[in-house]
Amino acid sequence: MNDHVLVINAGSSSLKYSLIDASSGEAAASGVVERIGEQESVHRHHGPEGEARTTQPIASHEDALRAAIDAFGKHGPSLDDLEIAAVGHRVVHGGARFSDPVLIDDDLIAAVTELVPLAPLHNPANVEGMQVARRLFPELPQVAVFDTAFHQTLPEEAYTYAVPREWLDEYGVRRYGFHGTSHAFVSAEAARLLGRGPAEVNLIVLHLGNGCSATAVRGGQSVDTSMGLTPLEGLVMGTRSGDLDPAVHAYLAREAGRSLDEIDHQLNFESGLKGLAGQNDFRELTRRQEAGDERAQLAFDVYCYRIKKYVGAYYAVLGTVDAIVFTAGVGQHSPAVRTASLTGLDALGIRIDAERNNASSDQARAVSADGSPVAVLVIPTNEEWEIARQAIALTA
Ligand code: AMP
Repeated sequence: MNDHVLVINAGSSSLKYSLIDASSGEAAASGVVERIGEQESVHRHHGPEGEARTTQPIASHEDALRAAIDAFGKHGPSLDDLEIAAVGHRVVHGGARFSDPVLIDDDLIAAVTELVPLAPLHNPANVEGMQVARRLFPELPQVAVFDTAFHQTLPEEAYTYAVPREWLDEYGVRRYGFHGTSHAFVSAEAARLLGRGPAEVNLIVLHLGNGCSATAVRGGQSVDTSMGLTPLEGLVMGTRSGDLDPAVHAYLAREAGRSLDEIDHQLNFESGLKGLAGQNDFRELTRRQEAGDERAQLAFDVYCYRIKKYVGAYYAVLGTVDAIVFTAGVGQHSPAVRTASLTGLDALGIRIDAERNNASSDQARAVSADGSPVAVLVIPTNEEWEIARQAIALTA
């Protein structure tokens, strides 16, 4: 059976793609076109021959996808030989409407366009990606996989904000949650690693990448998550503040004469680790911290303290916890973050084994001490594979 899916993740000025075998998760090729619309757009294609990099003006997402198709022709693997079964699209915001992957047609595109006010940075690019792929691959089924879908199981008390009811009814102001594809993938892998079915485990999943979110998973379903109406809420991230007093907006508007748009921009792009330490790359932050830089140390401490607060909160939500799962760039690769976030939680049955935690590995693994009642797991996420699997499940 042919299980190859072309997975597309269209951003405002970028287009990422991977050709995934949905059965094995293996990527036959992947690539990214960045700086779309600029004179020096960069296209990197990883195929069987390694990386091919070109710099040329690429005016639009359509040209970017054409460049990707050309690269498959030039550098392989041949799309004709592999016969793609479906195109899977990452779509950021599905609002309260989408709890499952959906076949893309005109109605779906209209629905995602209606949701643009909820995700003004992401949904327009996702719509563009879907339209372009439908034009260039008209014969293939196309599937939208929503970042919010996994969190549609949140109970009402977890997704409802304590604000005037009209905000929800008229404007959809509630918690939606994001990174759902990653949380879903990692939760299933965690259950497998524990040797149990997804319905039998309670998990706290910590997706710590450039964006960061925590999810409480009960029996395979998301029951609370740290991101909210938008991805700004919750944990400290690369450039996002996470939780803060909502009165900050009014205070800064009054005192600093800043517009709401400026404040919103600063909270999304100039806060988090970047706001605290001047840059958002965690590797660089770790180097500075190890060299005794006080701002880097404070950024690290604020970041880990926030994680610990969510672990405690979600422990209370779940009642019993089988595993705490770390994933994404920082979660997978920073033993120091895992240690600092879980330190002092012995009374909750959470104990890390220092040697296992410090060992470097790309495999899914346990880093908890033998006999720790709560397992601590490190599991590489694979959103592309999850999108490919969901696309095949819907179209096969
Ligand atoms: P992601 O969004 O999952 O790609 O994660 C990006 C974040 O992971 C960036 O802040 C990277 O600096 C961080 N990261 C990647 N590799 C490492 C590493 N070996 N140690 C610490 N942080 C890392």
